[in-house]
Amino acid sequence: MRPSDFVGNTPLLKINDRLYAKFETYNPSGSIKDRIATYIINDAEKNKNLQKGDTIIEATSGNTGIAFAMLAAERGYKMKIVMPCNMSEERKQMMRLFGAEIIDVDAGDFDRAISLRDELAIKNGWFNTNQFSNPLNIECHEKTTGVELLNQTKNISNNLSAFILGTGTGGTMMGCYNALSKEHPEMKLIAVEPAESPVMSGGEHGVHGIQGIGDGSKFLVDLKKVEEILLVSTEDAKVRAKALMRENGIFVGLSSGANVLGAERWIKKNNPEGIVVTILSDRGERYFSCL
Ligand code: PMP
Repeated sequence: MRPSDFVGNTPLLKINDRLYAKFETYNPSGSIKDRIATYIINDAEKNKNLQKGDTIIEATSGNTGIAFAMLAAERGYKMKIVMPCNMSEERKQMMRLFGAEIIDVDAGDFDRAISLRDELAIKNGWFNTNQFSNPLNIECHEKTTGVELLNQTKNISNNLSAFILGTGTGGTMMGCYNALSKEHPEMKLIAVEPAESPVMSGGEHGVHGIQGIGDGSKFLVDLKKVEEILLVSTEDAKVRAKALMRENGIFVGLSSGANVLGAERWIKKNNPEGIVVTILSDRGERYFSCL
């Protein structure tokens, strides 16, 4: 067996009677991004778009890079990662230990990370996994994360009131929504975004500390399907993530703190009849320097 054979089929944790969270830290490299990395590489191998020794390039806030770096190490590819320099040192260290090369751009400049990735891929003939516009990103979550959630929530309640989470590429949000809304057409889709960078709400892009979400554009998100956008500050996300560690033994990063806090606030305000689901996207160890 290889590490990537253990991607997915993650547990659903109970946060409280009304809130449940998919524990994506269970994936081998520690985040939800193992799912799309494995799905995209498997597809490329099946279609003979990748040969052993080839170079893969991606722009990422970190977890996608870590996931692809793991896959590249496992399968014999070279990995180049373009990312804003303000992402945590722990993430960079993990990528380097998996053998990947990091190419820095300015703090918070995701647009530049993406354009540089595209330039380098074309110039060097590298395989561009293109997570921000790749339809396989949504498809992966529709067929894996979303189907797992459907099966896991069935054992708890027939009434799924809302799916609440932040978005990086939006792949998790849209893919899971596609799967869940087929059986729960009344379910509400609620987005969470950093208060310092409220781009989905129409505000200005800003530097924030909730790595992995709110990176500057809405990418794959279909805003027509989003009922409401909740703003969570970096500080509040941090405090909530730390409380999850200390009070629940759930060791997760800031975007998980933002997701849980956003969901709790929504539940308090809306008092829904059914349960609410969110995502615990990655492990807390990659944030020691930020907590
Ligand atoms: N949280 C973290 C920590 C992430 O790294 C990501 C991916 N960038 C997300 C949430 C959002 O996932 P998605 O790209 O599927 O929207």
